[in-house]
Amino acid sequence: MALPRNMGETTLLLAQQLIRYDSVSSTSNESVSQWVADRLTAIGFEIEWITYRDSQGVLKVNVVAKRKPSSQKIRAGEGGVCYLAHTDVVPADDWSVDFCGPFEAVVRDNRLWGRGSCDMKGSLACALAAVAAIAVEEQTAPIYFVVTSDEEVGMDGAKCVDRKSAIFQEMVERNVVGIVGEPTELNVVYAHKGGASMRIVARGKSAHSSTRDGINANHQLIPILPLLLELRNECESNISLHNHDFDPPTLSWNTVLRNEPFATNVTPSLAEAAVFLRCMPSVDHRPLMKRVELEALRMGLEFSQREGLPFSVQRDAPHVRELLSMTSKKDPITVCYATDAGVLQRLSQLVICGPGSIEQAHRSDEFISLEQLQRGTALYEKVFRRWATPMGSTGVTLDRS
Ligand SMILES: [Zn+2]
Repeated sequence: MALPRNMGETTLLLAQQLIRYDSVSSTSNESVSQWVADRLTAIGFEIEWITYRDSQGVLKVNVVAKRKPSSQKIRAGEGGVCYLAHTDVVPADDWSVDFCGPFEAVVRDNRLWGRGSCDMKGSLACALAAVAAIAVEEQTAPIYFVVTSDEEVGMDGAKCVDRKSAIFQEMVERNVVGIVGEPTELNVVYAHKGGASMRIVARGKSAHSSTRDGINANHQLIPILPLLLELRNECESNISLHNHDFDPPTLSWNTVLRNEPFATNVTPSLAEAAVFLRCMPSVDHRPLMKRVELEALRMGLEFSQREGLPFSVQRDAPHVRELLSMTSKKDPITVCYATDAGVLQRLSQLVICGPGSIEQAHRSDEFISLEQLQRGTALYEKVFRRWATPMGSTGVTLDRS
């Protein structure tokens, strides 16, 4: 398929450059972030550089950026628009495409192949190309970018932005419309599940199982397993733990077990049970976690938990309705995966809408179609114009709720 000259080509080139940075979550995203910051600086954005060290001591970078209109034109007090993305990608060790590697960004069959092409460097390229098509002189409200780290592994980047970024605070105060560009095939997503996890650990002592020297950690862990099964069954059968805005409507309780070492002639010194819950708006999963915590502590087991919040806005909120009309979609939808939106909900006018299908994300043959790149770019240009140029003042009034 032939892309329209300029916009489509620009987006594709930007996406290829982004993909060629190996920014798997376990590595530093500093260089790809620098590239994003340089692009934005070149078209008039000011940059806030939010960094931290992850649990392995690796430097992580979040780029928060703002481009103000010329001062005499600025709409005081509120308004503006933000595009949000992440630069980290999931590992590519199992990459299975035979005609290119995961970080080569090759085009074939009207698709751009590579790790992060769909989730979500293709989307980021669309937004960068779209904003470059708008002159600062056209703006009457600010345009913002938030580009985070570690979205794929606990969203610590977004948490850091929420805590530390002065520009993000300004966005909250201005009540800007925020578009999280995760792949939705340009459907408008008004709610998604979150992710809460628990980790229960028993420790023993490893030895050759023919001797009496070992202490088998499983024998301490096993007594809590019936409770995990009981609670999982409750998640399935108790309708007060269901939310039918989602498919499946359940918390998708998932129990995972692990031993170290794992050999039948060695007593394991470590036994671990982990549980992952996909928590939902209007379902309180915390009592379930509390029951596990109390029982684990009573049994002398180690217990830890992490919480990733679900996300939701009103399905008929004005910014949702407007985005529906821009995308020619009839109804907004929900999805069952989590995004930075759960963490950044101090922005009350958030929505998720991006090119590419989640079916292609995280796969060993990840790609995004060139058609989605083209549509994404066109949509984001409309979005920026709607909420940051005079075109916006003729549309539906922004909602403060
Ligand atoms: Zn993503």
